[in-house]
Amino acid sequence: MPMVHFVGAGPGAADLITLRGANALKAADVVIYAGSLVSSDMLAYAESCREVYDSSGMTLEDIIGVIADADAGGKDVVRLHTGDPSVYGGIREQIEMLDSRNIKYDIVPGVSSFAAAAAALGAEYTVPGVSQTVILARMGGRTDVPEREDMELLASHGASMAVFLSASMLEELSRKLTAGGYGADSPAAIVYKASWDDEKLIRTTVGGLARAGEENGVHRTALILVGGFLGGAFERSKLYDPAFSHGYRPRTRG
Ligand code: SAH
Repeated sequence: MPMVHFVGAGPGAADLITLRGANALKAADVVIYAGSLVSSDMLAYAESCREVYDSSGMTLEDIIGVIADADAGGKDVVRLHTGDPSVYGGIREQIEMLDSRNIKYDIVPGVSSFAAAAAALGAEYTVPGVSQTVILARMGGRTDVPEREDMELLASHGASMAVFLSASMLEELSRKLTAGGYGADSPAAIVYKASWDDEKLIRTTVGGLARAGEENGVHRTALILVGGFLGGAFERSKLYDPAFSHGYRPRTRG
């Protein structure tokens, strides 16, 4: 039975794909990858693959056409997405077209860039006493976001935020974050190409985002992280507190 695998390639570094993803690539006859964001190093896993397509110049119909032809020919396909396919991956529309053609597929998760960015900064999004929520979001641009998810409204929660697809709109992002309640001096970071060789980590403030982006020449392929988790005071976690008991450990102090 031929199979289509949607595979999360991870944030960039070739060894940040999952074993399952790498194995799917090894067995693939056809690979369609998002060339604008997936490192070509990933293709080294696809040893037996004779057909490689870069989806950055293709339409949805082109992509489905390639998949359908391969499937009809009994070939295994990997559709390689950057990070994890469930975050701004555009897989839903592909999946529905495959469903309507009765083409079998599965999804292999990947390391999203929001996780790789935190790792690069040595940060935890969910620091006790600071924030217990992570908002994954984007600015509205040529692609709309629903009005109720406007950046200003999301910022009003004061939660930890990872903002995708917005590195070219730092001025406006900064304005909306401030209007939503973040002080101009709240910590922020720009993480450019997390885990790639040319990764850049830029620590700044909400008010300093646009300038920091400009100075470092970052206009794309970056995540903007915002929130108190990037610095300042916090509380230690209950999970490892000797004065707190839970199902796996008794209280040993206090
Ligand atoms: N599915 C991907 C996101 C795709 S949308 C994921 O899970 O990460 C593309 C956006 O993701 C980029 O505009 C950028 O904001 C972010 N991005 C992807 N890879 C990145 C990386 N290595 N470093 C920083 N940001 C990245």
